Amino acid sequence: MVDDTDLTHLHRCVALARAALEAGDEPFGSVLVAADGTVLVEDTNHVAGGDATRHPEFAIARWAAEHLSPAERAAATVYTSGEHCPMCAAAHGWVGLGRIVHAASAAQLAGWLAELGVPPAPVRPLPVRDVAPGVPVEGPVPGLDEEVRALHRRYHRGG
Ligand SMILES: [Zn+2]
Repeated sequence: MVDDTDLTHLHRCVALARAALEAGDEPFGSVLVAADGTVLVEDTNHVAGGDATRHPEFAIARWAAEHLSPAERAAATVYTSGEHCPMCAAAHGWVGLGRIVHAASAAQLAGWLAELGVPPAPVRPLPVRDVAPGVPVEGPVPGLDEEVRALHRRYHRGG
């Protein structure tokens, strides 16, 4: 269940996604939050430079592996504007991170991009549960998902 604390972090993810868009990158933003509520990492997509693996959730998984104990990782939550792709879901699962809360789902995004005429991504939009079945996942969140949709429309349509 998504509570007010979760919504606060998700709003921040959407703001980060908007900042990425305004910086010329794809609109994705994520935050890593410790069990005590401390925001540990904020990141956005950095794929505009040509490396399509520079997703925030992947960077967060690698940061967590380097800086957190296994117990701290399992108790942490990753909030994200868009559900992890399979690469990021796998990284999340491999390093033993905990709950994921996303504003928009991978299936929603795939549908929205298809509507915009964007060619299919080279990686299938599998839900996290199909890649890392032990990870608790919540989302999409009505209202916030529409904000994410608007950002992707702006990115692909320039308005
Ligand atoms: Zn990803």
